[in-house]
Amino acid sequence: MQTELRIETRARTEMIDITAQVQRVVGASGVQDGICVVYVPHTTAGVTINEHADPSVAADILYALSHIVPALPGFRHLEGNSDAHVKASLTGASQTILIEGGRLQLGRWQGIFLCEFDGPRQRTVWVKVIAGR
Ligand code: ZN
Repeated sequence: MQTELRIETRARTEMIDITAQVQRVVGASGVQDGICVVYVPHTTAGVTINEHADPSVAADILYALSHIVPALPGFRHLEGNSDAHVKASLTGASQTILIEGGRLQLGRWQGIFLCEFDGPRQRTVWVKVIAGR
């Protein structure tokens, strides 16, 4: 079973906590034991798992990425958004989370974030729930 989430981003770079939406998909699936794959079919957005208790952490990740990957004058891609492509590769296109007792097995401080690097845009997230012990 695969579910599509539609997420409207509001800034050029942004981390959006999608944990509750992903958990809803898991709950609706009825799967008690298995895995959940969260996949982003984009080249300038990614998905990561990190702290969602303190929103400053997501802000600091974006801040650090902006320094690690600046808009370099030597980029060749004519669209002018190569920094976004590099950041998307650094975060990755998918995450896999264990499901136990119908719940995502995330650590106490962990949340799932859609990472926007070239917004604002309408983004798609595919969530696949797979039963298995
Ligand atoms: Zn591009």
